[in-house]
Amino acid sequence: MEKVIIIGSGPAGWTAAMYAARAALSPLVIEGNFTQENQERGTLPMGQLALTTEVENFPGFPPGDITGYLASAVPASRKEMLAPHDPELNGVSGPELVELIRAQAVHFGTRVVTDDVADVDFTSKPFKLIGAGGNTYETQTVIIATGASANYLGLESEGRFKNRGVSACAVCDGALPRFRNKPVAVIGGGDSAVEEAEYLTKFASKVYLIHRRDQLRASKVVAKRAMGNPKIEILWNRVPKEFLGNDKDGITGIQVSSTVGAADLTVDVSGVFVAIGHTPNTGFLRGKIGLTEKGFVARPVPFRSNTSVQGVFTAGDVADDYYRQANTAAASGCMAAIDTERYLAALE
Ligand SMILES: Cc1cc2nc3c(=O)[nH]c(=O)nc-3n(C[C@H](O)[C@H](O)[C@H](O)COP(=O)(O)OP(=O)(O)OC[C@H]3O[C@@H](n4cnc5c(N)ncnc54)[C@H](O)[C@@H]3O)c2cc1C
Repeated sequence: MEKVIIIGSGPAGWTAAMYAARAALSPLVIEGNFTQENQERGTLPMGQLALTTEVENFPGFPPGDITGYLASAVPASRKEMLAPHDPELNGVSGPELVELIRAQAVHFGTRVVTDDVADVDFTSKPFKLIGAGGNTYETQTVIIATGASANYLGLESEGRFKNRGVSACAVCDGALPRFRNKPVAVIGGGDSAVEEAEYLTKFASKVYLIHRRDQLRASKVVAKRAMGNPKIEILWNRVPKEFLGNDKDGITGIQVSSTVGAADLTVDVSGVFVAIGHTPNTGFLRGKIGLTEKGFVARPVPFRSNTSVQGVFTAGDVADDYYRQANTAAASGCMAAIDTERYLAALE
């Protein structure tokens, strides 16, 4: 039986593993699996960072050429997972960053299994986790760090320009040179979309907020602020029809159709931020643990990583529909490992 199993392989899972390993808990990480379904849902092992290019805001990675460091820090067996480092990056790439955190966790004794957890039994101790292939894992404690997936519209042209103008995170990508002093668009009308639009006005020359209705869903105060911002133009009753661009420049525009019968419109933009929500990876937990209305893992104790089940803790985006950053995920992984360690110590 394991002392602790960590489900998930993004910055939250690996950081939890690193702390648990250094606390002599010999953690096992179930990292997910390389299946077609995970590929389509964007939930392959190594998490969301593996889907992005440049990460400029993770502490410890100012601009500089880290080729030599990567060569020495990433184990030979994992080198093939990484493309050659681009010295022009203003920091580290997403895949490199999460590979480095993994290496740090493995260095201290973390063990890794490539499997998806398909079901759990938290009704009695030891807890049981059932893998997609039928393997059963028994453990005293669990840290759930399965992340969330940004929702996209699903247009073929949207997929073609991901990381080349199409983003699902303004806080992550808004300051990149690609978007500076250029017009961009945000899709959505909820609080996140409107906040992202406002945030982007710091960098972009103009922000089009494309919303399918004639009223924003965002709270009144947020909506009012956006409507009074001279850099934001709201395109009401509009939905994206086609993302326009080319191989050299990435996104150059977006074609939007009308939900009320007006003619199509083409807007010139160098970036499109899709802000239509996130789906937490909690399907296998339904009915087994407390979830929020939106399906994220509920944390009943403020400022702690506890869940509704004693001995099960959580970290990262799977329990956070607000901050959703690699930094906050890593920090909450640390918290979950410390909470787990103290829980096990109290049991003894
Ligand atoms: C395009 C993009 C760019 C971003 N850029 C930045 C940035 O520049 N800076 C920043 O701070 N943040 C950035 N973020 C956000 C950041 O990537 C996330 O906040 C962070 O990855 C969340 O970490 P996590 O460990 O909670 O979960 P995730 O990274 O989502 O990882 C969880 C992983 O767990 C595994 N998993 C899921 N279900 C199961 C299961 N049932 N069984 C086993 N394993 C499972 C999967 O491999 C899944 O991908 C970006 C996100 C995206 C999408």
